[in-house]
Amino acid sequence: MPQIDLDFGGINDVPEGWFRLTVDKAIYKPNKAGTAMVLNLQLHLTDMPPGCIPGTETEYEQFENRPVYDSTSMQPQVRWRLQKVLAAITGKDWSEDGMHLDFVCEEDCEQFAETEKCSHNKRIPDLEEKTVVGLVVGEEYEGNMNLKVKKWVEDNGSVEFGPDFTE
Ligand SMILES: [Zn+2]
Repeated sequence: MPQIDLDFGGINDVPEGWFRLTVDKAIYKPNKAGTAMVLNLQLHLTDMPPGCIPGTETEYEQFENRPVYDSTSMQPQVRWRLQKVLAAITGKDWSEDGMHLDFVCEEDCEQFAETEKCSHNKRIPDLEEKTVVGLVVGEEYEGNMNLKVKKWVEDNGSVEFGPDFTE
């Protein structure tokens, strides 16, 4: 009988290290509770450190194209984090008042085209298809290991990819 080969050995390896990530989608929408707006980023790992994760035989390369999701609140009291994420993606300094980001309807609907208002989620095209460098770590969430970006840096060649935690 044919069999399905399944390897689960590497599934919980945590690829802590500096990776280049590409932003696939930047979505601007209300949070689940409807109390605040959030910026949700869908990214994937594009370039990674050479070799293996320290202490393991797991090569970083196996994480290529692995999706990474990030959610950042737009609320003023945590805007310091948004500031870092935006700075890393755009290479701009987000420290002034009166700055803005253009958004479009995610569904590209007619109502938005006519009135610039609709109930769909919004996309922020200026943040998409950009690369950024992040210190990626594994984080357990409801029993699954998800990848998270712990630190954000502009993709300008200043960071060596690898398991180096110095800044
Ligand atoms: Zn719409």
